Amino acid sequence: MSDLPLTSLAELERQLAALGLVGRRVVFHTAFRAVGEVEGGIDGYLSVLTRLCPTVAAPGFTFESTIHPPDDDHPERNGFDYAKRWVSPAIPFDPRTASIDPRMGVFPRKLVALPGAERSGHPWNSWVAWGEGAEAMTQPHPWDQPHRPMEWLEANDGWVALVGVGLESCSALHLAEQRAGRRPFIRWAVDREGKTRRVHVAGCGNGFPALGEDLQSLFHKGPLGAATVWAAPLRELIPAAARLLGEKPFLTVCSPTCLKCRDGSTGGPRD
Ligand SMILES: [Zn+2]
Repeated sequence: MSDLPLTSLAELERQLAALGLVGRRVVFHTAFRAVGEVEGGIDGYLSVLTRLCPTVAAPGFTFESTIHPPDDDHPERNGFDYAKRWVSPAIPFDPRTASIDPRMGVFPRKLVALPGAERSGHPWNSWVAWGEGAEAMTQPHPWDQPHRPMEWLEANDGWVALVGVGLESCSALHLAEQRAGRRPFIRWAVDREGKTRRVHVAGCGNGFPALGEDLQSLFHKGPLGAATVWAAPLRELIPAAARLLGEKPFLTVCSPTCLKCRDGSTGGPRD
């Protein structure tokens, strides 16, 4: 048993209001374990979000349809070591049946099961959305536009909430990378017909916490249960992060040996 106090749904509602998220379209990156004991568990937590936010979204990324690059398609500066074999089940991608990677946590798996939830048809950066605009946010999701759902949210006054996770989990910052001139990486996935096709995907976010000092004034901060939340409007966050990445392209390099950070910070794949 956990020693954390039980948070009531009424208290969660007050906390969500204090964060300025009531009535907003919000992408939640949730480490539910950090939220602690909540009345009704994850279902109680989700019931508060869907009652108070018209749109609730979350990353539902999957990697089970990816496959090793074809021998005749090896773009340079692609954050990829072509000498390594990609070990993947390469299951033909179908958004109706694709699993959500366990590293995404329990939240998107619960969200996608709600009536009216939608899932986007990108075989890597797939998004789950529920509520108002869910279909417009997720459909279509072309394989060469990994950040299209995030662009829709940004254009429609969406916010991001990091619940018990850091900036490394903030997918909006990958859109900021693209705005700063970094091309998304190229990977390969198997489509529903069993054909191998290129897919454009986000890079490495492990170094994003280095943006925290410069960006922190944009975030509302407060608790949700036992978790600390950082919440910000995408319309402000994405341009500010893109500006910063343009000025300091190597700020978010996570380690000298990270191929994705090496190639992403110098512009991404040459095609
Ligand atoms: Zn990295």
